Amino acid sequence: MHPTITTADALTAAGLPGTRPGDGPGAQVYDVTVVGAGVVGAAIARELARYRLRTALLDACDDIGNGTSKANTAILHTGFDAVPGSLEARLVREGQHRLRAYAAETGIPVERVGALLVAWDEEQLAALPALLAKAERNEYHAARLLDAGELRAREPHLGPGALGALEIPDESIICPWTTPLAYATQAVRAGVQLHLNCRVRHIDSGDDVHTLATTRGTLHTRHLVNAAGLYADELDRELGHDDFTVTPRRGQLIVFDKLARDLVGHILLPVPTAAGKGVLVAPTVFGNVLLGPTAEDLDDKTATGSTADAIALLREKGRRILPELLDEEVTAVYAGLRAATGQEDYRIRSRPERRYIAVGGIRSTGLTASMAIAAHVTELLGDSGLDLGTPSELPPVTMPNLGEAFPRPYQDAGRIAADPAYGTLVCHCERVSAGEIRDALAGTVPPHSPDGLRRRTRAGNGRCQGFYCGAAVRALFEEARP
Ligand SMILES: Cc1cc2nc3c(=O)[nH]c(=O)nc-3n(C[C@H](O)[C@H](O)[C@H](O)COP(=O)(O)OP(=O)(O)OC[C@H]3O[C@@H](n4cnc5c(N)ncnc54)[C@H](O)[C@@H]3O)c2cc1C
Repeated sequence: MHPTITTADALTAAGLPGTRPGDGPGAQVYDVTVVGAGVVGAAIARELARYRLRTALLDACDDIGNGTSKANTAILHTGFDAVPGSLEARLVREGQHRLRAYAAETGIPVERVGALLVAWDEEQLAALPALLAKAERNEYHAARLLDAGELRAREPHLGPGALGALEIPDESIICPWTTPLAYATQAVRAGVQLHLNCRVRHIDSGDDVHTLATTRGTLHTRHLVNAAGLYADELDRELGHDDFTVTPRRGQLIVFDKLARDLVGHILLPVPTAAGKGVLVAPTVFGNVLLGPTAEDLDDKTATGSTADAIALLREKGRRILPELLDEEVTAVYAGLRAATGQEDYRIRSRPERRYIAVGGIRSTGLTASMAIAAHVTELLGDSGLDLGTPSELPPVTMPNLGEAFPRPYQDAGRIAADPAYGTLVCHCERVSAGEIRDALAGTVPPHSPDGLRRRTRAGNGRCQGFYCGAAVRALFEEARP
């Protein structure tokens, strides 16, 4: 039987092993363990890092943010169209303010490009005032209606037939990769233990401690937070609950070349239907243009492939929205899986008597809401008897800028003069220097694959998709491996 442990100090007093970087998970009894290091789990771990707790963050993958968090449309939503009064509406609203401020502080690229919800027929035009009223109910007061003339002046490349729009000026685009990395980096620097390649296979819940059988050994924890994304329902059932079922909803997207970027100024949204938010056209912070996503309910939680049918459907829809986009080169296609549960809200549930919180059903807004979800979960942990103590300041982090709209190292003569590695380009499409690759490989949360390196630097993310730089990038990656 394990002693009852509420804080790291109590743990030490009980004579249990300390938290050393080399320890496997088995050497620890944690106050809190967060399963899943996606954008949500990483945000929760970061929030917990403010407190004198022994916290673990686990992921089955070899990297943070390697699940749904790496493949979304990367919009920092305002929550104008959320279900008023829902938990999601509140957490998206709060989360966007928190993340916007955090991005400014840490250097995560954000561009406030604004969104235009475009009406293509009379029925859609008639629906816009109700959407404006919904935005007001969601405490978003800056939306306004545009007539066809104003709309075309804003977006001259729109296809023919657009009748008007609802403008949402604060919808923004953000870097989906730097965000979870910033959270995880700050959490680890503040003492959170990150265990990768650590899949939770089985959980035994005792009176005081949960015992997790993982692919890296056994781990003990007083409190457990399930942020396992698509697999959160399976973990929940492992603990004897049956609150929700995750049905993966695939979203396929097409990435157009940077030469298409001038065709579109805003995020172009369709008028939503019962089937979902629909297909959008949006710029990315990397300077590309996205077309997508689809919404396909599947059984397979690993089905992240793209299909010819869906790409054809997206192209057909895109042709109506922005015809010239279809003449541009395609850089890549990708797909992400939303953790849909059949409910129009998040499934966040605390079971204080079990010292367990399920953070399920974080479907299509989790990037935006991540920091507010983290604050909410921390509050729930406090209510479940976890002695949080007084929060302290987190160590500041400055993330490398991956955004096209902000200065990059190759453009910075002073930086290159001080360190010529920033002037030596390795990936020419994305203009990524050897210095940035070196820094990423030596980071607090380093990549364990060239793909992880791509998400930290953009190397291989451009027009040639690594055809030219792939070997050089891999060589730098292999050189840096211990
Ligand atoms: C197509 C698409 C577009 C989207 N667009 C937007 C958008 O524009 N704006 C926005 O805010 N949101 C958007 N989203 C939603 C957003 O991407 C998700 O809400 C968010 O990424 C969910 O993060 P997560 O941490 O809950 O899940 P994940 O990122 O999936 O993380 C869960 C982690 O748990 C790990 N895990 C699972 N089981 C186990 C286990 N047994 N043991 C250990 N680890 C485990 C997984 O490896 C994974 O890394 C979009 C989603 C999709 C699919």
